Amino acid sequence: MSLLSKAKVVYCIDEMEKLFPNAGCELLYTNEFSLLIAVLLSAQTTDKAVNNVTPVLFEKFPSPYDLAEADVKDIEECIKRLGLYKNKAKNIKELSIIIVTKYNGRIPREKSELVKLPGVGIKTANVVVAEVFNEPAIAVDTHVERVSKRLGVCRYKDNVGVVEETLKRKIPKNRWIKSHHLFIHFGRYHCLARNPKCSECPLNDMCRFGIKTLKKQES
Ligand code: SF4
Repeated sequence: MSLLSKAKVVYCIDEMEKLFPNAGCELLYTNEFSLLIAVLLSAQTTDKAVNNVTPVLFEKFPSPYDLAEADVKDIEECIKRLGLYKNKAKNIKELSIIIVTKYNGRIPREKSELVKLPGVGIKTANVVVAEVFNEPAIAVDTHVERVSKRLGVCRYKDNVGVVEETLKRKIPKNRWIKSHHLFIHFGRYHCLARNPKCSECPLNDMCRFGIKTLKKQES
């Protein structure tokens, strides 16, 4: 089966939007810095788990200045329910020091600068510039990657960089930010990793994974 054309990808997004018209960022944050920290904390864990720890963290350390001066052990204590918390605490402290000393307490706007911060990869940078600065970007997380591959937007063997570039090529730029949220919601609540809802999916006649799954269920 060949990969989906641009027109078909746009059709998929339209259908996803019908299912999730209010798809948006599910991480709780109050400013650009707290979003950056929340996204950093969300690596290999759920947004819900992050939302459970960030209120405590930011009540204790409201700004990058507070986190820059914090004892790493105290940061660890606030986020210890999350996976990789020791590493994340170390990165938060180091990143806060850089933001205070190099950027006067404000996070940089450019992706090329954001990815230089400890613990910040291209996915985090894409989420932050899109969410905070409204700059068109598509962050590829596990849901975006899985849905893109199942549907046939890109190839199964593509790495996340190729997935991102393919999505950007096939989706009109003015829909990048919303599409990112739509793919995440669609993957999180409909095209789930273990039990995708193929039989009730509006895309099941054009989805290579869904077609196979439904055929198997019939036989
Ligand atoms: Fe996901 Fe199944 Fe829908 Fe394909 S048909 S997009 S695998 S839920």
